[in-house]
Amino acid sequence: PTSFEAVPLAPADPLFGLAAACKADTCDRKVDLVVGAYRDDNAKPWILPAVRKADAILANDPNFNHEYLPIAGLPAFTSAAARLILGKDSPAIQESRVTSVQTISGTGAVHLGALFLAKFYPRPQNQEVHLSSPTWANHHQIFTNVGLPLASYPYFSAKTKGLDFEGLQAALESSTDGSIILLHACAHNPTGVDPTRDQWVKIAEIIRKKRHFPFFDCAYQGFASGDLANDAWAIRYFIEQGFELCVAQSFAKNLGLYGERVGCFHFISPPSPSAADANKRIASQLAILQRSEISNPPAYGARIASAVLNDEKLFAEWEDNLREMSGRIKDTRKALFDKLGELGTLGNWSHIVKQIGMFSFTGLTEKQVLKLKEESHIYLTKNGRISMAGLNSRNVEYFAIAVDKVVR
Ligand code: PMP
Repeated sequence: PTSFEAVPLAPADPLFGLAAACKADTCDRKVDLVVGAYRDDNAKPWILPAVRKADAILANDPNFNHEYLPIAGLPAFTSAAARLILGKDSPAIQESRVTSVQTISGTGAVHLGALFLAKFYPRPQNQEVHLSSPTWANHHQIFTNVGLPLASYPYFSAKTKGLDFEGLQAALESSTDGSIILLHACAHNPTGVDPTRDQWVKIAEIIRKKRHFPFFDCAYQGFASGDLANDAWAIRYFIEQGFELCVAQSFAKNLGLYGERVGCFHFISPPSPSAADANKRIASQLAILQRSEISNPPAYGARIASAVLNDEKLFAEWEDNLREMSGRIKDTRKALFDKLGELGTLGNWSHIVKQIGMFSFTGLTEKQVLKLKEESHIYLTKNGRISMAGLNSRNVEYFAIAVDKVVR
């Protein structure tokens, strides 16, 4: 017997398990709607043209080497990342109220933030981290791993397939003052449902009144609407309002750098004469946490991102690439909606075109999802979420017909 007899067998990650099952399926009509990764109209991964060019610049750089980055990451990258998310004229940047640390993509940024809060955020009443219901499944694990207790706030209304704003407001109002509130900055995963600007204003009011701490997770800036500023609106609004907050930023989707693990964690202090000093102390602690976990972040993806973000021409080309990706997804939403309409499919499907970003929460039940897999080789998570990028002009009709059949 080993010392680890008591280690229970954990289930495989449901998402990546399903993705593997799809990969193993040999049917040539199969449709992969599982993982949130962009695919072109031929269902192939897409290297952004701006990224290809940045890659070529790095390949030809005589000064390129494989040395360690500083603990907090590549400065040219982290500063550009802060300007991207906060806006280049952000008062927070001008007043040196921003601390930025390069992380292992968005997951690493959420984790570093969680770890920092677990260690330093005062929670005299054992305040919880409030997650939207539903949310990206990994949020639960990341915050639980650092010992922070979880709570949830209503988010998705099964009836309207839109935001349960009443429920959300009531939950934020009734939670203990000083709770941590995790917010998706845009393109909410898994629902594709975002608050309107008016609703964000009300959310900010409640958070201020309750002295909650807002933690923004931003995995889809520019990918959601095709407009970088539009997708960062909520974060910039909170900062304009003088909040103290943090942001986990991922470049997986918007630069298509999934496997390179490019991300950034930003902590923003509120305006005050001591803000710059507070930031120095916070940066010093983040550096210690980072050192003990990964020592230094990976260099390659950050160099690519930095090349794109810091070059005017490449940046403009990247914005075109973002419009192309988000545009294709919007067109696909419309095509799916139209097809379901043509087929006279049971139910109201307008949420397909109202929802935004990588995912659509279709409202399909677990049973229907299972049937789609068994009868049509269509793979999606059992909560009825589809990765829109998996649909394209060749398979959208096949998908619509299969959906039509399972809801009848
Ligand atoms: N947060 C949310 C809400 C996400 O959807 C994702 C991507 N699935 C991430 C964070 C982080 O992903 P990554 O670590 O690949 O950047």
